[in-house]
Amino acid sequence: MKSIEVNEEGCLLFDKNEKTKEGSRVARKALKKAINRKKVFDIMNGVSESDKRLGIIYIDFDEIETFVFKGLNALTEGVGMVFFHEVSHAFFHTKDPVHNKVGHDLGGAVKFTNKIRKQMGKDFGQKTSYYPFTREQFYKSEKGYPSFIIYGPQSLRDAKNKQKPTGNYIMYYHQE
Ligand SMILES: [Zn+2]
Repeated sequence: MKSIEVNEEGCLLFDKNEKTKEGSRVARKALKKAINRKKVFDIMNGVSESDKRLGIIYIDFDEIETFVFKGLNALTEGVGMVFFHEVSHAFFHTKDPVHNKVGHDLGGAVKFTNKIRKQMGKDFGQKTSYYPFTREQFYKSEKGYPSFIIYGPQSLRDAKNKQKPTGNYIMYYHQE
């Protein structure tokens, strides 16, 4: 999307008549739909979630900055993609899986952002677990426990075997 901008009041704007084949069609369509809705959401810095009652989408800018990417384009879990994950909850009522288990279920929001990833290119990969794999049982560094957001079938197999992923992943430290 080339025409995307934020105006003086902090509102997200884009030219809905823009003709482009670049980027993701799924993302463009979702953004148009969301903008056309009456309900307005504020974007704030916080642990990523969407609060429909208060009309706030929180994005964890600080955490996203710490991500280390293995074999992946950094935009695959950048602010934009996290935004679309939360937009899918806020506007399209997708749900995340309730069971805290690696590879148990992707949930609607990850399935949605995987469609965007597919249209963005191979280096965006495909997320294969909603929940990150955390090796709490093995080690802890002074930064906390390393967590791995799993991409692709190989990393998923490794995580299910409680091994550090050998495929693509995003590593970050989650604080207790
Ligand atoms: Zn979610």
